[in-house]
Amino acid sequence: MFKMHNKIAVVAISLVVPLAVVLAQRGTRVSSPISENALRAHIKFLADDRLEGRGTGAKGGELAALYCAEQFEALGLKGAGEKGSYWQPVSLVGVKADPKTELHINGPTEAANFKFADDFVAFTGAQTEQVKVDAPLVFVGYGIDAPEQKWNDYKLPEEDYRGKILVMLVNDPPATPQEPDLFGGRRLTYYGRWTYKYEEAARRGAVGAILLHTSESAGYPWSVVRTSNGSWRFDIARTPSDKTPFLKIRSWMTDEAAHRMMQLAGLSLDEVRKQAASRDFKPVKLNLTASIDLKSELKRVEAPNVAAILPGSDPKLRDEYVVFTAHWDHFGIGAPDKTGDTIYNGALDNATGVASVLEIARALSSLPPAQKPRRSMLFLITTGEEQGLIGAEWYAQHPLVPVNKTAADINLDSMNILGPTRDFVPLGAERSSLQAVVDQIARERGLRISPDPRPEQGSFYRSDHFPFAKVGVPSISLKEGNEYIGHPKDWGEKKFREYNEAH
Ligand SMILES: [Zn+2]
Repeated sequence: MFKMHNKIAVVAISLVVPLAVVLAQRGTRVSSPISENALRAHIKFLADDRLEGRGTGAKGGELAALYCAEQFEALGLKGAGEKGSYWQPVSLVGVKADPKTELHINGPTEAANFKFADDFVAFTGAQTEQVKVDAPLVFVGYGIDAPEQKWNDYKLPEEDYRGKILVMLVNDPPATPQEPDLFGGRRLTYYGRWTYKYEEAARRGAVGAILLHTSESAGYPWSVVRTSNGSWRFDIARTPSDKTPFLKIRSWMTDEAAHRMMQLAGLSLDEVRKQAASRDFKPVKLNLTASIDLKSELKRVEAPNVAAILPGSDPKLRDEYVVFTAHWDHFGIGAPDKTGDTIYNGALDNATGVASVLEIARALSSLPPAQKPRRSMLFLITTGEEQGLIGAEWYAQHPLVPVNKTAADINLDSMNILGPTRDFVPLGAERSSLQAVVDQIARERGLRISPDPRPEQGSFYRSDHFPFAKVGVPSISLKEGNEYIGHPKDWGEKKFREYNEAH
């Protein structure tokens, strides 16, 4: 869908990538030969229609992963995976819900049917071909239990959630004039992410959760929810010994459908939403039951992470690692756009990041021995990022080099294709010792550091550096700034909105 023919596009990446190279070097002075042509060539191949959008578990995805492995081989890098290969296999289970699935909701006097894709989406966490659920609905507000914020939405006895379907709002509760820093103020905390909501509902013994979408609270329009839930949805394959609780039904509902659902219960959505924004909120048993017979196609696939090592030049430091991450997967083939195009090419997200890591690998490995990085570099091209960071999550649980020897993860996901900026955003640097390194490089290069322009989007939890941060590795994601040279101040923001809405 997103094609990139514009010449300036790749020039912008070739200005940002050297930053990552310098970050890896930490002190060594080099001018890094990043080639615009090479970046362009990687992106053109990875985003070509013939790769069919690099779906996880699909042929095009396999080709993208193979391409990365062969690039590493061409550079003479060491395999970091199984038996010295470039592969770290990850066993996944994919489910694809039958789009004819309906959600029936019965109220005390009326009932209603909701349509898949138009009104709601659902996918099962059970990793089975059919789940039948008939369960009462409980509205749990934001669905958050956060002791450090003195906030608990689960004020009813435990049995009131067990076997139920929990209905909840996405995002964090809003800050108030009395508590401007509540849940990080404008910044999204992990409690606001849909992943947390599902995890918490499962911990409570619920059979399902319905998340109520608004573009504002989610940070993206319904089309994004529909796309990412309406086709294949992958998760790490559960083993028989795995006791982690899961939800049979994971669902999102449109704002319009949610209003209708609350009306069936004789309630106003606007009213209960207001109540949910308070510490005194108590869950509401909705006097509604939902029934859904969710049939899914199921497939088991191996979709690998690709990993290569450039050994460090310093005998004292070479058993420490700096990891570069970028995900090879995108959304594959899905619903057609206005022109009938069904291939989600993912040129920006994340052919640009993969191209950058490949070129960083080339730049660093082609340095003369004396200038090579002192620490070892691990280049990790991940699977399943769009499925919930599952490739990076698998890596963090099954690291190829020791986590306590991993100095940093530098993640590259959707690079700047719009043009040169005066500033850049080292997302998450302030959370670790990386801030000092980034500050120093910015000073040396005369670049300005800007804060995350959209903290409400929770970008820190939405790409592959996050699983590294969760296991204690200092992690950042390098993002473009927002002051585009030769454009008015709000131009970048406008371009971002256009992209988010249309692509
Ligand atoms: Zn991405």
